[in-house]
Amino acid sequence: MVKICCIGAGYVGGPTMAVIALKCPDIEVVVVDISEPRIAGWNSDHLPIYEPGLDDVVRQCRGRNLSFSTEVHRHVSDADIVFVSVNTPTKTCGLGAGKAADLTYWESAARMIADVSVSDKIVVEKSTVPVKTAEAIEKILSHNTHRRHGGGGGVRYQILSNPEFLAEGTAVADLLSPDRVLIGGRNDTPAGLAAVAALRDVYARWVPPDRILTTNLWSAELSKLAANAFLAQRISSVNAISALCEATGADVAQVAHSVGKDARIGPHFLSASVGFGGSCFQKDILNLVYICECYGLPEVASYWREVIRINDYQKGRFVNRVVASMFNTVAGKKVAVLGFAFKKDTGDTRETPAIDVCKGLLGDKAAVSIYDPQVTGEQVSRDLAMNKFDWDHPRHLQPITGTDVAGQVAVAADAYEAAREAHAVCILTEWDEFRGLDYKRMFDAMHKPAFIFDGRNVVDVAKLREIGFVVYSIGKPLDD
Ligand code: NAD
Repeated sequence: MVKICCIGAGYVGGPTMAVIALKCPDIEVVVVDISEPRIAGWNSDHLPIYEPGLDDVVRQCRGRNLSFSTEVHRHVSDADIVFVSVNTPTKTCGLGAGKAADLTYWESAARMIADVSVSDKIVVEKSTVPVKTAEAIEKILSHNTHRRHGGGGGVRYQILSNPEFLAEGTAVADLLSPDRVLIGGRNDTPAGLAAVAALRDVYARWVPPDRILTTNLWSAELSKLAANAFLAQRISSVNAISALCEATGADVAQVAHSVGKDARIGPHFLSASVGFGGSCFQKDILNLVYICECYGLPEVASYWREVIRINDYQKGRFVNRVVASMFNTVAGKKVAVLGFAFKKDTGDTRETPAIDVCKGLLGDKAAVSIYDPQVTGEQVSRDLAMNKFDWDHPRHLQPITGTDVAGQVAVAADAYEAAREAHAVCILTEWDEFRGLDYKRMFDAMHKPAFIFDGRNVVDVAKLREIGFVVYSIGKPLDD
């Protein structure tokens, strides 16, 4: 029986391995993590992450051919294929701080693999890593092997790049029916070709052959960074157009629809919003910028940097619009924030635009009441207490103490509680439930004039104006 071990039981490692276990009942899949609470969560009825459909998949496989464990060394040692799906955040200090990927977790995982392995292994890069990481990993693995075996043969490793393209909120559906699976490997050696074939065999159980792409290692590593950069660029492009729509009376939804009808452009990922968030887009573009600079390509670096600059601009523009509309101050006013996750159908708040928007409002002394169906009060307090957003230096976050916002932030049990006696409502996540709210009920319980600032274009602007709201919706014609 083939044994797979995945290091890292996070948003990628957990769902990815659950789907492999579901589709390959003859393969034993173990997901390991150094975080005991995470593993305890995966072994409980309350999984540590929220993803539609994930509970079902885990329930079907756990105890059959899927398990979660903190016994990292033992399971890595036993495995034939080791996926590495650890976090690769942006470096916060030292060379490349604020841009380069922090590969500390990756390096320690690689050293650990080398330390505990007694049989040959295929090591799969599942994390998003800078192009050429496989070269560094090969060095670490081969150096440690030589050291342990006195310079002679020992364990052999094949490194593959198999970046993950799932999107949070649709992870299970994306994994069950991926647009493509990408496998990069060394196609110049029989062992390299065999490793690619072995991983291809795993995915071929449910992914059609024409959707399994094989490339060289560097193309696979770079494809993931490029794909995220292209996706984020589309959002910044439509957001840049949204600002022009507001200035001219055009409607960004109509413009995006017309633009997307061009088959060369396509209709997806063209929704204007308060900005993109999540743990990947910003960090991967910053990493791309850093790589371009390292390879002496400053013009290319500055091209991609603009994608992030427009995203920061969009978040700041939204806050400025809220404050300016409310007679240039929100001091002492209650603002209901509906949605804190970076997108619907996830509880993930990493890099969510809601953090920056809330900090902007708190900075102008608003009282903020937050409701999100999947985000806990602890997450909100942690995210808002950690850093203060500095509009003059948007990439430099200043630490503040929890007391700076104490008394200014509340977490509500539902949208109506959040909006009670509020002066304004800001919609920051496109949860389906926000489309069907009883806005008349909310209006009746709010101070007048009652404002709605829709950062996701989910409300029916005409209907809300009929109720009596003053409505701002990104990229839509403004109230008179
Ligand atoms: P995550 O932070 O949710 O999970 C990473 C896990 O790795 C953590 O639980 C951590 O405890 C564990 N870990 C770190 N070092 C370890 C070690 N030495 N041994 C065992 N466990 C260790 O991160 P994530 O969101 O799952 O992302 C993982 C990677 O996948 C990142 O490179 C990310 O860029 C990439 N990615 C993420 C997404 C996404 O939507 N989240 C999508 C595609 C790719």
